[in-house]
Amino acid sequence: MQVELTGKRVVVAGASRGIGRAIALACAGAGASVSICARGAAALEATRVELAAFGGTVHAASCDLGQRAAIDLYIQAAAAALGGIDVLVNNATGYGPSDDEASWDASLSVDLMAVVRASQIALPFLGARPGASIINISSGSGLNPSPRNPSYGAAKAAVMHYTRTQAAALARSGIRVNCVAPGSIEFAGGTWDDRKKNAPDLYNATLAGCPMGRMGHPEEVADVVVFLASDKAAWITAQIIGVNGGQGLRGA
Ligand code: NAD
Repeated sequence: MQVELTGKRVVVAGASRGIGRAIALACAGAGASVSICARGAAALEATRVELAAFGGTVHAASCDLGQRAAIDLYIQAAAAALGGIDVLVNNATGYGPSDDEASWDASLSVDLMAVVRASQIALPFLGARPGASIINISSGSGLNPSPRNPSYGAAKAAVMHYTRTQAAALARSGIRVNCVAPGSIEFAGGTWDDRKKNAPDLYNATLAGCPMGRMGHPEEVADVVVFLASDKAAWITAQIIGVNGGQGLRGA
């Protein structure tokens, strides 16, 4: 089976590094036109250059996904640059780790409301052509509550629920809505790389809960997103797909 995205116009919200970057690269490698955003300029530009090497249309813009007006500007600009939008990937996280106002604000505004807002704003573009879909990146934390990240977990759980309500609402329009829930994904400069150095007890305890003896790679999440974005997944909607190597399985 060949999975390809030739002719698809893909927007990855939150894609200068980590999983979002891997998703954008995998989509471009599969033949898609790609738009990416992030808040900072330097990492965004570096990823834009990597994307351009695939030879397709690439758009990159700074955007704070915590602000509705900024999301609106970004989605309109992405649609103009790509000539429309077929696939929206909502990837960014505000990762609020604590049970305080700032953490709840960060988690709800970026992990949840940016998903809702970008989906609403992109909808007129997604409805314009068959084969459109939305893919929301949630987390195993949305399924398995932890006192380490109450606001993040709650926001990610809400994203799973919203995925399914949107899938139901948009099915008649032919727009599929799915969710990918990664387990612990390690990459240079990412959360687990940081914890390996600065919180080794947490890192080692989490690694011990990975039955395959390692954490995941961003590309392993990206491959699933490419499949879900492709027409090979035409009959898949309203699904929450764990990409986690069996993390959390008892007795493994
Ligand atoms: P990351 O923090 O390394 O990267 C997130 C990307 O989103 C970056 O490009 C960042 O610039 C961008 N971003 C963050 N806030 C933004 C904002 N307000 N406006 C615009 N862009 C913004 O995250 P990651 O580890 O690559 O995770 C990606 C997704 O996967 C997130 O939704 C995260 O919750 C989820 N996830 C990650 C892991 C993991 O172990 N890394 C595990 C489960 C789920």
